[in-house]
Parts: sequence; C-alpha cells; structure tokens
Amino acid sequence: MTSNLYKTAEWRRTRIRILTRDVWACQWPGCGVVLLSGRKDPRSAVVDHKTPHNGDPALFFDDDNLWSLCKHHHDGLKRSEERLGYSDVIGPDGYPISQDHPFFAGPRKVWGYSIPHGLKPSGVPVTLVCGPPASGKSTYVADHAAPGDVVIDFDLIRKKVGGTKWDQDMSVRRRAFAYRDRILRTLKDRRSGHCWLIVTAPSCKERDAWCAALGNTIVVVMDTPENVCIERIDADPERHASANGMKRAVREWFKAQRPRGDGGVNRSIARALGIDVGRKTFT
Ligand SMILES: [Zn+2]
Repeated sequence: MTSNLYKTAEWRRTRIRILTRDVWACQWPGCGVVLLSGRKDPRSAVVDHKTPHNGDPALFFDDDNLWSLCKHHHDGLKRSEERLGYSDVIGPDGYPISQDHPFFAGPRKVWGYSIPHGLKPSGVPVTLVCGPPASGKSTYVADHAAPGDVVIDFDLIRKKVGGTKWDQDMSVRRRAFAYRDRILRTLKDRRSGHCWLIVTAPSCKERDAWCAALGNTIVVVMDTPENVCIERIDADPERHASANGMKRAVREWFKAQRPRGDGGVNRSIARALGIDVGRKTFT
C-alpha cells in the first residue's frame, strides 16, 4: 500500500540521514545496540515511523517522526502496536513517542489541542491567543501580527491539509496536527519576527504548559462573553454544519475557565515587547 514511498531515492537518503543522526545505535530507551546492515540479525537497523504515516509523505519524510531501532525492538514494538492500536513507548522526555497514544487523544478530542512531545523552546517570542470558538482569536491575531510573523491557526491548517475550516474528520484532524506540530518544531530555529499561536486552552494549567514548553511566551485570553460566542456561531452560515459541536465547546470552555484577575496575561513581558495585550472583546 505504501511500499512506493519506501522505493524512492528520497527515502534511501532519509534513511541514511536518520541512521547517521542516531550514530547507528538503537534508540529504544535503554538499548543502544550498534546496528548492523542487512535484515536477518536481531541487531539489523530499521528506521521506524513513530507516528504511523498512513501514506502521508509529509509524515513519512519527517525527521522528527523517525528513529533508528534494532530489528528486535522494532518487531516487538510492532507486535505491541498491533495489539493496542498504538505504540506505548515512552520517550526520553517522559512523553509517549506516538501521537496516537491515548495520552494525546484525551485533550485533543475535547479541545483540539495538545503540545507535541519534545517541543523545543521557540527562538522568537510567542503570543498564545486563547479562547473558546467564535471569541475572535483569529481577528485579534490579524489585527496584531506584522508581515513575516508566524501565525499558527488550527482552523486554517485544517483547510490547508484538505479539510474544511472546522472539520471534525479524524484523518483531517490528524494531518492538521502533524502539520501544526511541524511548524511548532521549526520555531526553535527562528531568529526574527514573532509567533502567534491560536489555541482554545481553557485552563491556566494548559496555558502554563504551553508557556513552559515554548519559553518566551505571553498569554492573551479573549474575554468575549459566552452568549456573544453562541450568537456569532448561530449567525454564521459558514459554521452552520459544526454549530452544535462548537456551541458545546463554548460551554465547556467557560465551565473549565476559572476566574483569574489577569486572565493569564503576563503584562510586564508584554510591555517589554511593546505588545498590546489588553483583554479584548470583539463585538
Ligand atoms: Zn534495540
């Protein structure tokens, strides 16, 4: 089914690049055996996809999604994956290596949100724009972003990977997460500009986790009232197909939101960066 991708010159190059990166050592936690060429020996090198690519070339050739394993650990992993439906390997960073692990499924399912494992701090300042559906997050970013800034908007990414803006289809969402995660992972190498990351992140805990992962992050929480979000969803023909799910997400968001005076905004950092982070309502 996906064997064509394995036959490409790009795959041969990618495979060698990953083996070189991993210095021909099995990356299985605690293994480290020196890998051999060939296919028979339990120490034979296998370059494995942490998250199954399902024929998606972007995931297939993504260095961050690849690791070198010995045949022994690769085969054992595949057997456990077939049994569970996902890999239960925990990476050196303490998070599961597979994006299909239930660890990631919970928050994603509810909030369309999760922090990719092993994310490195951003090289440029990040503004995390949080709020329920239809609270005006995209508008806020459009009003504040400068040309050349990175804008990470999951709704737009869904469109980019072939879905619709509020697509709930699992394969669209999975492709969109893979795409978004790749952009997030490039932030560490950026040296100029600013990143605007749009998330729902209803709880301070989630926002704090993003800040800890990305470093140099300020948080903006939209303070659009619940009834205004609901009215906007009802009034928008484009949102019609997903209106019920969205309204439920709005209610859940406000339920999870605990009142906190500053709305999570780190005003001193914001001032230092010259950014206007007043809580905003769009009516
Ligand atoms: Zn091994």
